[in-house]
Amino acid sequence: MEVSETDSEPSHPQDLPVSAQKIIEEIKSLEKELSGLQESCLHPKYTVRNCQDSFSLKRICDTCHSDLGYPTQQETDKWMNS
Ligand SMILES: [Zn+2]
Repeated sequence: MEVSETDSEPSHPQDLPVSAQKIIEEIKSLEKELSGLQESCLHPKYTVRNCQDSFSLKRICDTCHSDLGYPTQQETDKWMNS
């Protein structure tokens, strides 16, 4: 009688759920990469955007998405009229 060995095999690694720890480490790594990118960016172009967190308009860099501060009154008026 032949015994099937497939039942005793451990599940394949790709079937295991991704652990929260791995995701957290990945986020940390990506945040580090992002802050490095933002530090080296010259912010050549920005867009005035409505910031959801503070309910106010902010200048956001098109390249690195850095918060570049508040727009001028002129830029605010332009945004309101667009
Ligand atoms: Zn930038």
